[in-house]
Amino acid sequence: MATTKAIDLRTEIPGPRSREILERKERVVAEPLSIYRELVVAEGRGATITDVDGNTFIDFTGGVGCLNVGHSNPRVVDAIQEQAARFTHTDFTVVPYESYVALAERLTALAPISGEVRAAFFNSGAEAIENAVKFARCHTGRPAVIAFEGGFHGRTLLALSLTSKTHPYKAGLGPFAPEVYRVAFDDLEELERAFKTEVAAEEVAAILFEPVQGESGFIVPSPEFVQGVRRICDDNGIVLVVDEVQTGVCRTGRFFAIEHFGVEPDLIAIAKSIAAGLPLSGVIGRAEIMDSPGDSAIGGTYVGNPIAIAAAHAVLDIVEEERLGERAEAIGERIRGAMERWRERHDAIADVRGLGAMLAIELRRDGGPDADLATAVADAAAARGLLLLKAGIHGNCIRVLVPLVITDAELDEALGVWEEALDETL
Ligand code: PLP
Repeated sequence: MATTKAIDLRTEIPGPRSREILERKERVVAEPLSIYRELVVAEGRGATITDVDGNTFIDFTGGVGCLNVGHSNPRVVDAIQEQAARFTHTDFTVVPYESYVALAERLTALAPISGEVRAAFFNSGAEAIENAVKFARCHTGRPAVIAFEGGFHGRTLLALSLTSKTHPYKAGLGPFAPEVYRVAFDDLEELERAFKTEVAAEEVAAILFEPVQGESGFIVPSPEFVQGVRRICDDNGIVLVVDEVQTGVCRTGRFFAIEHFGVEPDLIAIAKSIAAGLPLSGVIGRAEIMDSPGDSAIGGTYVGNPIAIAAAHAVLDIVEEERLGERAEAIGERIRGAMERWRERHDAIADVRGLGAMLAIELRRDGGPDADLATAVADAAAARGLLLLKAGIHGNCIRVLVPLVITDAELDEALGVWEEALDETL
């Protein structure tokens, strides 16, 4: 049982002030920016969020995986404030700054890639993916990219073309970028077959996958698949790109999730938690690939902005000093233990899966995926003060992206609330 209470609900949810702001939003914000959970944040601290009505929630959404070091971590806040007071922008390629170089030094040292390694920084996950493809195309002189069913890589044109979810992301938004081929995930035979039926191996610049698929419901591929993709890339001169946008920064217990598979990628895309929610992404990879585009072919006005980079240094300090990877494993074990117990009691919990603290339950009823049930569980949890996020190509999974700085007491409290929500709903 929890010994302290982090959750503190003082009004109905959403409260009056949240409702009023959300009504204003309806009048002026474009409709596609629909709101998943109807409350308006006033403050975030560690693993909790307090709304504008004074209600405090435990946050298992972590800004969709951006907050592995927690909301407003004091070290990140200090780093941002200190940098903002010194300079906010120059454009690194016009007037460079040391912190960019130092971050590249730290991330290239962390990357599980041997030989000379380079980094380049961008703003968003999608932008990192787009640039990874640019690096791979320049290096190989080939056009095609192979991605996988269920993959999510972002919402810009090429990233969206690589993304594999029609609704809500792709429907109505074509035509998509050419030379993107999609194969069933975790199926080496299908991949080999695609070289016969879809695209010649010698036309393929890159094969791209998430070491644990995020959006499609935390699907962990087999080591044989990941190792097989590496072999296929080696045999055919293809660049292996891993999308660590959601899995990176210790979410799975290792800094990069690919470290679980005993495979060296050629390029790694990173974003989300690397700068604690500030817009920063990066591509880290083998020097001969990263150095291949022409002068100024890679860049952008804001890319690697100094405030986000200062936040990233603070994140890496926290990762090292607070042993965030070990903490993720410990948190993951506790959550998995609870999920397995729930599964024994509830037939509707069809699967418990993930790696480290990247865990999900899948809900099914009458032999099929049940998105409504997942929504009902998440709603019941929110009404009790726990914010949960759904996932899955059918929307029938609930995923954990909790800040890894959550305390044991908060974690117990949250799991107790989740269990009550399941008991009530199932
Ligand atoms: N790749 C993965 C695995 C993601 O989970 C996401 C975002 O959820 C992206 C790419 C796109 O990142 P962004 O939304 O920062 O463009």
